[in-house]
Amino acid sequence: MANYVFLGPPGVGKGTMAAMLSESYGNVHISTGDILRAELGAGTELGKRISSCVQGGGLVPDALVGELVRQRLGKTDVLAAGFLLDGFPRTVPQAEMLTALLVDLGIELSRVVLFEVDEEMLIKRLVGRQLCSDCSAIYNTFFSPAARPGQCDICDGTLVTRKDDTLETVRNRLAIYWEQTAPLVGYYEQQSILTRIDGSQTKAVNFSALQQALSI
Ligand code: AMP
Repeated sequence: MANYVFLGPPGVGKGTMAAMLSESYGNVHISTGDILRAELGAGTELGKRISSCVQGGGLVPDALVGELVRQRLGKTDVLAAGFLLDGFPRTVPQAEMLTALLVDLGIELSRVVLFEVDEEMLIKRLVGRQLCSDCSAIYNTFFSPAARPGQCDICDGTLVTRKDDTLETVRNRLAIYWEQTAPLVGYYEQQSILTRIDGSQTKAVNFSALQQALSI
């Protein structure tokens, strides 16, 4: 059973690769962004507290997101099938929390995968991203537009853009990535568990590079 962390800037395709890996190999896909958006959508107390932060592209406090991950990683499905963390850790203190948490749980981190794509493509992937509000299919107005603008090819559902995918917020998210998350590359390189993957190709090519890198 293997446990992975997917690292890389917003828009690099971590979520897509994580969903594909989880479907093929069964690892539990844990996306802190999805967990936080679910809290926002459900209008919980926590959701209200983090709403302006998430929608503006800022980072939620380390202790809060660390606690969410601690609760999730201790569940039996994760212990049985292995995990795939997407969007966590995002700061050095979060990485330190994860290291301590894994020691407590007696789990070993198999590999940290860093996905890399140039900045211009990242911006287009994020600003052009659209999701079907019914079936969650993903489109991109630059690279893979829906046949009918604003409407899902699969289920006719309405396509929506994430509130944090506007150009201004995307620039903010990328700046935060370089400032706060990029130092994790050195953190995991020192532990000799970092693997780099070119994320600029098609999904199928990227996934096959990932499988090769992980020898799975
Ligand atoms: P994502 O879907 O990974 O791009 O995350 C969306 C937003 O959720 C981020 O811009 C942050 O506001 C918040 N978020 C997700 N993961 C974390 C994390 N590990 N630490 C702090 N904030 C996070």
